[in-house]
Amino acid sequence: MKVIMMKTSIFMLILFLGSYTEATAQADEQKYENEILSLINTDIVKEAFEYIKSIDDETGKDHILLTEIPAPPFKEGVRAEKFAEMLQDAGPDKTWIDDVGNVLAYRKGKSSGKLVAIGAHMDTVFPEGTDVTVKYRGDTLFAPGIGDDTRGMAIILAVLRTLEAQKIETVNDVIFIGTVGEEGLGDLRGVKNLFGENGPGIDSWISVDGAGLARIVNGALGSTRYRITFRGPGGHSWGAFGLVNPQHALGRAIKYFTDEAEEYTRKGPRTSYNVGRIGGGTSINSIPFDAWMEIDMRSVSPEKLEGVESILLKSVEKALNDQNGMRRAGPELKVYIDKVGERPSGIIDPDTPLIQRAKAAIRYFGENPTLSTSSTDSNVPISMGIPAITIGRGGIGAQNHSLDEWWINKEGYKAIQLALTVLLAEAEIYK
Ligand SMILES: [Zn+2]
Repeated sequence: MKVIMMKTSIFMLILFLGSYTEATAQADEQKYENEILSLINTDIVKEAFEYIKSIDDETGKDHILLTEIPAPPFKEGVRAEKFAEMLQDAGPDKTWIDDVGNVLAYRKGKSSGKLVAIGAHMDTVFPEGTDVTVKYRGDTLFAPGIGDDTRGMAIILAVLRTLEAQKIETVNDVIFIGTVGEEGLGDLRGVKNLFGENGPGIDSWISVDGAGLARIVNGALGSTRYRITFRGPGGHSWGAFGLVNPQHALGRAIKYFTDEAEEYTRKGPRTSYNVGRIGGGTSINSIPFDAWMEIDMRSVSPEKLEGVESILLKSVEKALNDQNGMRRAGPELKVYIDKVGERPSGIIDPDTPLIQRAKAAIRYFGENPTLSTSSTDSNVPISMGIPAITIGRGGIGAQNHSLDEWWINKEGYKAIQLALTVLLAEAEIYK
């Protein structure tokens, strides 16, 4: 009887705590909803929203101008120079290009308590020589990079222009950024530099990248990439038989790796592994002098990512030892391990004010906000526990990373208004 009573009261307590946390979450949501609504209802913001609509044509021209300046991976320089010039013309306190090629435009706040940053990436996935001329079919704009992320750049510029033209002062400092190296092998080198030792000291980060309006990225999908090469002396398949064989070692390494990684990734946070490319060797009757593979591993969890990485390194070591154990002649097999990519993972608590504000702002624009995990510039601050999100660039578009990429300016101004709202909620209007 006593036991039952105790169980009942624990059950009641759980019920009580459950409804209590739910109630506080709702109260919190209401609080940010009110904060955003009262921000949007100030004359300053209402006028700013109208201004954003009134410069829609100009924003569209900037968007096209920037799209037509090629920005292949590691070659963002020309576009960066132009972007810096356009930002500076808008009238911030200072604009500069940092030592890795990021563009920064700084606008001082009234009390300089914290530094809020808003950025878009300048690089595209398209190699040099790609035709980036914008083509029109009705109201659809076609060009490689038209959406991802050149529209984001146009938004950053429009937000700065609005603050300057409307003479909106903020309490905190704001910095407007175009980053390098977001795509592929760029390996986030732009944001890594911004959040590194020589960075400006950003306290809050808003990235504008991704389709639509509803999505908020608060989770960083981390990845680790390797290129692994086995090397031996090489020789005739018959005459030099008994030398170490790099291809045989590679085959074993893949077998050991995939066997263990397969089991490891079936449980816990989502984690993937992929041997994407292999190569090496010169002919069917030659013992190859090298054999290589490229591996991509991803996880939403830093621990899992480290785990799958260590399985890879162990497997390579084991395959190397196996092959050297079979050696009948010649020198030992060697392995060269190059880490060619590292994007950190992590997650920002959905209760963080930045995320709550973005959610409330998205609701104001009539959309249902969704939290998601992705690989964007925000990975770096997220992994460091710095409040960071990636919000959408609006309009409608698709076919990113393809030559048929397109974008339509369907209420494109809304994404600019959204970016402005989230920025002002973080930076606070000085009245
Ligand atoms: Zn992008």
